[in-house]
This record gives sequence, C-alpha cells and structure tokens, in this order.
Amino acid sequence: MNSEYEVVVGLEIHTELCTRRKAFCGCPNNFRVPPNTNICPTCLGLPGALPVLNPEMLEFALRACLALHTRINQRCHFDRKHYFYPDLPKAYQISQKYRQIGVEGFITIETDDGSEKQVRISDVHMEEDTGTLAHAEAYVRKGTSTVNYNRCGVPLLEIVSHPDMRSIAEVSSYMHRMRDLLDFLAVSDCRMEEGSIRYEASVSLRPFGQEEYGTRVEIKNLGSFRSVEQALEAEIHRQKRILASGTPLRQETVLFDENLKETRPMRSKESSSDYRYFPEPDLPPIVISDELLNEVKRTMPPLRDTVMKTMIEDHSLTPYAAEVLTASRALADYYRDAIRAGGKEMAVPVANWLQNTVLGFLNETGVEIAACPVSAQELADLVRKVEEKKITANAAKTCMRESLSGKGPLKDLLESQGEAVSDDTQLMQWVGDVMAENPDKVEAYRGGRTNLIQFFVGQVMRLSKGRAQAQKVKELLERELGG
Ligand SMILES: [Zn+2]
Repeated sequence: MNSEYEVVVGLEIHTELCTRRKAFCGCPNNFRVPPNTNICPTCLGLPGALPVLNPEMLEFALRACLALHTRINQRCHFDRKHYFYPDLPKAYQISQKYRQIGVEGFITIETDDGSEKQVRISDVHMEEDTGTLAHAEAYVRKGTSTVNYNRCGVPLLEIVSHPDMRSIAEVSSYMHRMRDLLDFLAVSDCRMEEGSIRYEASVSLRPFGQEEYGTRVEIKNLGSFRSVEQALEAEIHRQKRILASGTPLRQETVLFDENLKETRPMRSKESSSDYRYFPEPDLPPIVISDELLNEVKRTMPPLRDTVMKTMIEDHSLTPYAAEVLTASRALADYYRDAIRAGGKEMAVPVANWLQNTVLGFLNETGVEIAACPVSAQELADLVRKVEEKKITANAAKTCMRESLSGKGPLKDLLESQGEAVSDDTQLMQWVGDVMAENPDKVEAYRGGRTNLIQFFVGQVMRLSKGRAQAQKVKELLERELGG
C-alpha cells in the first residue's frame, strides 16, 4: 500500500445491554431460548400495547455516558425510526435521534507509536434491537425463512465516534478499550461471538495535509474485531485503487464478504429522511433527576485502569500480572473474591496460582472463568494450605488439576491426599526403603553420578504419594547418600 493518503475512520458500536428485562416490556432479556418464547404484545408491537421504559436500561446508559465523559441531557426523549422489515413487527424502531442521552464525550486510545490520544464520541443513545431471521438453518425448509422475535425489544446502546481514527491499529485499540469499558461497567456481557457487540465503520481517504474529508463509505454489519480490521483493510485498499485511477469515489454503503475478503455495495440505502423520524408518542420524555445521576455516579463500578492500579499498588502485583488478571471483569472479580477470602497476604501467591494453573486450564479447555469448577474461596484455601506448608505445591497442583477437570470438589480431593509429611522419622523410613531397593544407583551416586539425586527424590515422592516435602527429602537423601 502506498502512503500518500491519510486514513480517516469513525466507528458506531451497538451493544446489547445485559439488563434483566427488555427495554420497554417485562419480558426476560434473554433471546437464547426456543424461538418466539420470550415475547409479549408490547415487544411484538400488537395494537394497543404500550411501552414502558425499563429504569435499568436508563441506569446502564448513564454509566456508559459518565465513563465516556459525555455531557448528559437530563431531559431527552425517544424517537421512532420507520422502516419495514420482517424482523421488525412494529415497522419502526424506538431510538433516539433528536436529543440523545449523552453527547460529546471521549475515550482514550493508544496510537501506533504507543502514545495516547482521545477519540471524541459524538453521541450515546438508547434504542431497541430487532428480531432475527433464519434462512439456512437445518429446521428451515428450503426456499423459506423463519422469524424469531425473542430479540425484539432487547435494549441496545449505540455509541457513535467522530471520524478521529487514523489507522487500523487505532481502530483496534478503540474497540478493545470500548469493550473493556462496557465489560467493567457491567452493562454488557460483551459476547462478541453471540453478537452482543456489533460495528459499523465509516472510512475515507484524503491526501496528507488536506483538512477536508474525502468521500465516505460506510461498512455495515461487522460482528468482531477481526471482521472490522479485515473489512477496513479491504475497503482502504479499494479506495486507494480507485483514487489512483483518477475516478471519483461514490458515497455508498457496503457489506463485507468475509470469505472473499472484499467489500460490496448494498443494493439499496435509505437516507435519514426515508426513516421519517419523529418523537415517540407512546413514551413520555425522559427526565433524569440530579438524585438519580448522583446515585449512578456513586455506584459506578471501577474501570479496568483503576482495578489494575489497585492490583499493582495494594497487592504488589507486577504490571504484567495486573494486565493478565484484568483481561475481563469476571476474572478480576474472581481474583478480588479470592483475596477477600484468603486475606491480603495471599495476594501474590493467589495471583501466581491463578495465572499458572487456573488460567492455563481454562485456556486449554475453553471454559470461562464464570464456569470455573474451582471457586475463588477454594483457590484461596488451597493457596493458604500451600503457604502454611500443610500440603506440598506438587500435591496441591495435582488436586487442582483434578478438580478443574471435574474429578470432584477440591476440598475432598485435598482431604484424600492427606497432609504434607515433614516428620523426619517417616521421611527417613522412605529414604531408607528407596536406597535399599536401588543398591546399584546408590553405588553410582557415591561414585560421582550426583545427578541421580533427582531419581531418588522422585522415588521418595512416589512412595509418599506426593505428600513428602521435596526440599526436605533432598536434604535427607544428600546426607544419607553422601555417607
Ligand atoms: Zn415483551
């Protein structure tokens, strides 16, 4: 790629909010159930059914606005966005067009050279999700489509940035920081693979030094970091090719084909006026009192930076460990719970166990921390036992692995393992047995092959079923074998 053009990107993020109920009715906010089971007259848009705003949605939206430093419109309202599509039974979507809840904020991202910069947020607004159509699934007869309304009325937050990003790496940093923010605010489950965050990117090119923006192309329906990055790469390449040939670009909306790795124009594009936006008459204007705003401020969960800082300053973790343990809010919470159960003096060993043993297992098996078979309390208990030398690190690791693999509760496994043996009489018994069983190796050791010590230690550990203190065994063996 040549570098005579500057890349200009803006991003819209749609995230499903993890409230307990849908945006405007009492249906559970869970669409991953049998088709058309979490629905009611309101989210189906049946005549006469009226929407009522879910206060939790408002609270979650406020959290995001505060974290993104937006100005908050304490008086705002909903608008109707009209369009017909089979997954939208009302033929309009309740959204915010004219007076959004949050306007003009920013988020800090990392630039290509590792420094930081602010990307301005133009607005944050609330809206509702649509249903889903199935065209090709096994249960759909060929040539037909089915519609599932479970997702209708699920609360969405849309976060719109200014076109402030100048490279794909900056877009990537923006998406990661935004994901962390939504995750640590506990407003979204951030399950990308299940579509709870979706993106639309607008991209244009301009000669370096030119202030005026180039012709903008919008890329719709992007479902992951990777597809955003790949779509941008393909689209930037396409625009450079067209501009190089001297042809002007057309302002259009395109879709990204993940298989062909290319962008393609969408057949039709509604302009804003086609949606015939007007204020939603079925919902009263939203009035956000100072009390509510202060309450939301007071109960804001800490963001990732703050959690990392606590880990480094209060728990003496390395910046690297803090970064690993804040990869998600669920993991950071697990660590926090383990420290609460085990005490602050367990902070470093618990972090080590979590990183080396628990995360290793979760990564291998794809199990999420929230479904970890070993609880934070159990991990804390185990680490304490190791620190107090009641069990050996090896035995603890074995029990941990077994419990993680579903062989039983950690506590039971540890009990059946028995306490660590550091009593000299018992250890000497095992040392004596091993030496008697291996006279040739004893001879060889005494003849100079001192690296056989590992063999002897291993044999004693085997006899003790992992309960012997390895260091002590080594000392005793060296003393006995040396004589
Ligand atoms: Zn409903």
